[in-house]
Amino acid sequence: MANKLVYLFGASQTDGAADMKNTLGGKGANLAEMCRLGISVPPGFTICTEACNVYTEKGGDTVRQMIEAEVRQGIAFIEKEMGKKFGDANDPLLVSVRSGARASMPGMMDTILNLGLNDEAVNGLAKKSGNERFAWDSYRRFIQMYGDVVMGLKPEKKEDHDPFEVIIDKIKEKKGVELDTQLGVDDLKHMVDEFKALVRNRLGRDFPNDPWEQLWGAIMAVFQSWNNDRAIFYRRMNEIPDAWGTAVNVQSMVFGNLGETSGTGVAFTRDAATGEDVFNGEFLINAQGEDVVAGIRTPQQITLEGSRRWAQLAQISEEERRAKYPSLEELMPEVYQHLVKTETALENHYKDMQDIEFTIQEGKLWMLQTRSAKRTGAALVRTAIEMMEQGFIDEKTALLRVNPDRLNELLHPVFDGAAISKAKPIASGLPASPGAATGQIVFFADEAEEWGAKGKQVILVRQETSPEDLRGMAVAEGILTARGGMTSHAAVVARGMGKCCVSGAGAVRVDPKARTMSVDGIVYKEGDWISLDGSKGQVYAGQIPTQDADLSGDFGKLMELADKYKKLEIRANADNPEDAKVARNFGAVGIGLCRTEHMFFEGDRIKAVREMILAHDEAGRRKALAKLLPMQRGDFEGIYKAMDGLPVTVRLLDPPLHEFLPHDEANQRDMAKELGLSFEEIKHRVDELHEANPMMGHRGCRLGITYPEITETQTRAIIEAALNARAQGATPKVEIMIPLVGTVREFNAQAKVIRDTAEAVFAERKEKIDFMLGTMVETPRGALVADSIGKQAEFFSFGTNDLTQMTLGFSRDDIGKFLPSYIADGMYEHDPFQSIDQKGVGLLVRIGVERGRSVRPDMKIGVCGEHGGDPASIAFFHKVGFTYVSCSPFRVPIARLAAAQAAISN
Ligand code: ADP
Ligand code: MG
Ligand code: MG
Repeated sequence: MANKLVYLFGASQTDGAADMKNTLGGKGANLAEMCRLGISVPPGFTICTEACNVYTEKGGDTVRQMIEAEVRQGIAFIEKEMGKKFGDANDPLLVSVRSGARASMPGMMDTILNLGLNDEAVNGLAKKSGNERFAWDSYRRFIQMYGDVVMGLKPEKKEDHDPFEVIIDKIKEKKGVELDTQLGVDDLKHMVDEFKALVRNRLGRDFPNDPWEQLWGAIMAVFQSWNNDRAIFYRRMNEIPDAWGTAVNVQSMVFGNLGETSGTGVAFTRDAATGEDVFNGEFLINAQGEDVVAGIRTPQQITLEGSRRWAQLAQISEEERRAKYPSLEELMPEVYQHLVKTETALENHYKDMQDIEFTIQEGKLWMLQTRSAKRTGAALVRTAIEMMEQGFIDEKTALLRVNPDRLNELLHPVFDGAAISKAKPIASGLPASPGAATGQIVFFADEAEEWGAKGKQVILVRQETSPEDLRGMAVAEGILTARGGMTSHAAVVARGMGKCCVSGAGAVRVDPKARTMSVDGIVYKEGDWISLDGSKGQVYAGQIPTQDADLSGDFGKLMELADKYKKLEIRANADNPEDAKVARNFGAVGIGLCRTEHMFFEGDRIKAVREMILAHDEAGRRKALAKLLPMQRGDFEGIYKAMDGLPVTVRLLDPPLHEFLPHDEANQRDMAKELGLSFEEIKHRVDELHEANPMMGHRGCRLGITYPEITETQTRAIIEAALNARAQGATPKVEIMIPLVGTVREFNAQAKVIRDTAEAVFAERKEKIDFMLGTMVETPRGALVADSIGKQAEFFSFGTNDLTQMTLGFSRDDIGKFLPSYIADGMYEHDPFQSIDQKGVGLLVRIGVERGRSVRPDMKIGVCGEHGGDPASIAFFHKVGFTYVSCSPFRVPIARLAAAQAAISN
C-alpha cells in the first residue's frame, strides 16, 4: 500500500514493530512489539508521525482527508477484536487517544481516556458492566480530560486550581468525604452535569456528544500538541528535531476502575534511582490512567519487599502497612506473578531496563506501555555495568548506554558530612531523585525561571508538578512536592534531568496564594533557604554546604572500560596545584592548558602585575616582573609536583592587559598611592591602554613580541620551577605554548626569546631539562599556514574558543545579545561556543591538522577550548586525528567516556 499512515496492533494482526520508532513513535512501536511477543495489549492502531507533519504543514483538513479511510478501518479492526461497536448506545467501544513521539516527551499532550462515552452510551456501559458507579466515573473522567486537553479549559489565573477539580472538591466537601472513590453514583451524575455546564459557560458551546467528533477532536489535539510551548521547550532542551512529529495511538480501553479487583500501575524492572536490580513500582486499586502519577491518593507498592522498604521510610508500622497499603504481591498473587513474568520477558527482550505501565481489569493484566526507563546518572552507570556483567550486553554496548553528560550527576556534590550530621530535617518525603540541593524557595515555575535568570539558586516547591512546570524545574537546584509518589511527574522529570527531588512530603503545606509553605506550624516564605537530600528524601531548613562525590565502584569500572577503548588522551585545564590534583583524580593524564595569568589575581600579586603594565619603560617593567618571578615559579613548582611524570602545557601571557587594570576611581587612587604616582597619571595610563576591541587587540604573542621581557620572565619561572621540582624528586614534563600565533615569524621571534632564556638558566644552574615548544592554533590564519608554523612548533593546541570567535566573527562577550534568538531561529543548530561548528570552524581545524602533520607526521595535536569537554566535539576531534583533548577537571570523566564512544562508533 502506498503511503500507509495507520498501523494496526492486536492479537489477530500487528503491522508495526519495535524498530519502527521513527514512523510509529516510541509508544506505538513498543505496543506493536509487545503484541508480537504475545503479551496482552488492548488492540488499537497508530497514526504515524508523517501525518503529524502533514498537519503542521498543511493543516487539519488535509491530513484528515488523507487518513480518514484508514482511521475508519482502524476503528473497525478494534471493534472486531473487542466485539463492541464504537458509538453503540448499549455496549459502546471506548478508546484512549495517546500521543507518542520517537523519544519520550513529558511535555506532550495528556492522554484522553474513555473516549466514545456520551449521554446514551454511559447508560449502556452501566447496564453492560452491571456497575453504574464505574460508568459515571468513567464519563466524568472523560469530560474532564477532554475538556482540559482538547477544549483547552484551564484555570483562568495561575494561582487558581483546575476548574474541574474545583467542582470535584466542592462536591466532596458537601458530602464530607476525602477521596473521590468515596463518591456515589448520584454525586458522579451531578458532577457530569456540572462539568458540562462549565464547558458551556466558559466556551459557549456544548460538550460533543458524537463519538466520531470526539475522536477527530482528540487526534487533531495530539497533532497540535507537538507545537505547544512545553513540547517545544522540551525539544530544545533535549535537542529533538522539530521535524520528527508525534504519532497518535488510538486503543481500546481496559478499565482499572471497575472495583476492588481492578487497578492501574507503573513499574520499573530495576531501581530508577540507584540502578539496583530489583523489580519495583506502584499501583492503585480501583483507579484509572494517571491517578498513580497525579499524587491524589497514596499509591501502594507492587512487591512485598518494596512495600516494606517504603513503610520503613514513611515510618508506618507493619500492621498498618498490611491493613492499609498491602503490596500487589500480597493482594493479587496471581496477577503479580504474571506481571513479574512479563517484566522479565520485556527486559530480556529489550536487553535494557524497562519502565512499564499496566492496568488490571477484574483480575486480568493488560500492558499499556513499555520503554527504556529514564533513570538517574548513577542508575545509568550501574545498570550498564551490571547488565554487562549479567551477560545481557557487551562492553561496547555498555559504554554506549551511558550519555557522558549524565556523569555530571555522579560527580556532583553531596551535603557536607559535618554540616548535615548537625542538621535536623524539618520534613521527609520520598527520595525521588538523588543528590543534594540548597536554594531559596519559590512557588511558581515562571518565578523559578525569573530568579534563576538573576543568578539565584532556587528550590521549586509545589503541591505537585505538571508538564507546565518544566522550564522552572530545569533552572531549579531541586524540587520539593507535597504530594506524589516515586513515579509522580516531579519524580520522573527530575530523574530525567538529573535534578535532586523530594516528592510527597506530606507534612509540607503549600499555600501558593500566600507564597508560603508551612511544616508543623512553622512558616517558610518565598525566598527563605531550604535544602533537600534527594537520596534520602529529607527536607532541611536553611543553607547546607555540599561536598564531592565518591568515584569508585561501578563508576570506576565504567571509566576503566572507557580507557580500554578510547584513543584520545584526556588532559585537563588547570591553573593551580589543587585543580591539578582534582583533574588527576578524575583520570587526567596531563595538563593541556595552564593559564599563567590566572595566578595573577591571587592575593597581592595583582599590584605587581599592574605595576608592570603601567610602567613607562622596560626598566620599570623588569622591576615589577622581578617581583612576579618567584610567585610564578612557586606556582609552577606546585603544579609539576601534582602532575609528577605527566605533561604540563603552560601558556604564556595571553589576555589583553587592560583586564588587569583598575577601572574605577577608588582603585586607581589606591594604585597611584602604591606606585607613588598621581591619580591623573594612573588614569591617563589606563585610558591610554584602552582598546576598542581588546580581544583582537594587543594580546597573545603580540604582548611578548612588544615586551620580550615578559616572555623572558615567564620562561625563567617555568624552567627554574622545573629544575627545582626535579631536585625534589619529581619528574616534570614541560611544554611551553605560545598563544595567538598567526604567522611563523611571530612564533620564531618568541621561540628565540624562550630558547635563549632557557639556555641562560641552564648555564646559571649548570643543569638542563628537556622541554617542548609549541603553539596555540587559534587564529584562522594560523590554521591556514599550519604547515609553515608546524615546521617550527613541536606541538599544536587548538584554541577553539578564539578560533570560533574569529571564524564566525562572533564576539564571545557580546553573543548574549543575539545568540539565543539566533539559535531559536535556527541560524545555528547549537551554540558554537559549546559544541564546535564542525562545518566551518571544523574545516579550519581539519586544514590545520593536515598541514601540520604534512611537515611533522607524528605531531602531538590537542584542543584546550571549552569544546574539549563536549561529547559531540570530542567525537569530531577523534575523527580528525587529535592526540588529546583538554577540558575542565570536572569534565575529565565525561571526556573519557565520550572519547571511548567516539572510538567505538567510528
Ligand atoms: P504518557 O505518555 O503520559 O505516559 P499514556 O498514553 O501512557 O501517557 O497514558 C497514561 C496512562 O493512561 C497509562 O499509563 C494508562 O494508565 C492510561 N491508559 C492509556 N491508554 C489506556 C487504555 N487504552 N486503557 C486503560 N488505560 C489507559
Ligand atoms: Mg505512559
Ligand atoms: Mg585563546
